[in-house]
Amino acid sequence: MLALVGLVVAAIAWFAFGAAPVAAAPSIQAELEAEVDVRSAITFRLDAPWTAPPPSRVSILFGLPDAPVTRRGRAAFELDDGRLTASHRWRPRGTLLPGAEIEYRFEVHGADATARTTSSTVTYIDVQLPWRTQSEGLVEFWWYAGDDGLATDAVSGIRRGLAALDEDFGLELQRRTRLVFYADGDRMRADMGRGTRAWVGGVAAARFNLIVLYASEFEWGRSTLAATIAHELTHIAIEHAIGEPPRAIPTWLHEGLATVVESAVAERFSYEDIVNAAFEANRLISLRGLTGSFPVQSSGALLAYAQSNSFVKFIINRWGESAITDILHAYRDGASQDSALRQAIGLSLNSLEAEWLATLDQSDAAPAPSAAGLTAAAAVALPLTQP
Ligand SMILES: [Zn+2]
Repeated sequence: MLALVGLVVAAIAWFAFGAAPVAAAPSIQAELEAEVDVRSAITFRLDAPWTAPPPSRVSILFGLPDAPVTRRGRAAFELDDGRLTASHRWRPRGTLLPGAEIEYRFEVHGADATARTTSSTVTYIDVQLPWRTQSEGLVEFWWYAGDDGLATDAVSGIRRGLAALDEDFGLELQRRTRLVFYADGDRMRADMGRGTRAWVGGVAAARFNLIVLYASEFEWGRSTLAATIAHELTHIAIEHAIGEPPRAIPTWLHEGLATVVESAVAERFSYEDIVNAAFEANRLISLRGLTGSFPVQSSGALLAYAQSNSFVKFIINRWGESAITDILHAYRDGASQDSALRQAIGLSLNSLEAEWLATLDQSDAAPAPSAAGLTAAAAVALPLTQP
């Protein structure tokens, strides 16, 4: 079954902590090591020959690779028999996702100089699982169940998703991106940290260049898994296109484009039927209501995705795929929601919504499914099947 996948676009909290600019410093030769205990901590260790007077302090600096912001912590140290050893145990407390790569180095403060080690990296991952890894273009995927079949599915989803993004929207990944598959949803949620709700089937976190996805054995070998992968890669590609700093682009645009790209790979949901039924029943959600987080675990959730899909398709049908690219570029250049739309297609969100509603009104597409049908679809969909 497909799973609900949350989207993390906002900066992850720990990222916002104080900056530690790395100034030029003499370097020291040391062995670095990091031990991951995925649900609780990463322990960073240093071991170096040391003949100078005892240091006054040893610090650890760590952060995402190539990121300007780093965290700093104080490491406990010991000097014994000409060797300096130090360690620091960091408890991420739900701020890290499994698969995240962390770069770290130590800094040793002496009486009159501060020296640094070169940096090393560690992947925050559940080391109890027998991970395999494979690369496809800029995407590196990790999986531990499903054998070669899952790898085939992953390659298919990655290739087809990236092809649709590139050919239709001129979008591509700009940084290496990691895709981590769990075959056990409960374990995935536990590894994601406290507070991950039971309906979460994965997450796309652009700041980590990371997608964590629950791919149950029922999905292996099904085209819908490839479609889910394409959906999640779209979120990352959108964030890469917008660049830094991350901008709060409306959720309808994120999810609308992700569902359009997903549908280019395989149909996961009958979005059109869902929207038509909601229109007939006068239950559509206002687009301003689809700017922030989507409703979860309610019949409104699937409708929110379906409406986003319909709205983005409406823009594409009327102004072409390039309009979507233009809107994203306007966000990249700092436009607000309304001005991004005005710059790209000359209409405000309200006018656009009115025009979109008018197309639904004229739609003689398929008689709307009964409300009962929708409810049933949503009920099946919700805990297990949602974008
Ligand atoms: Zn999504």
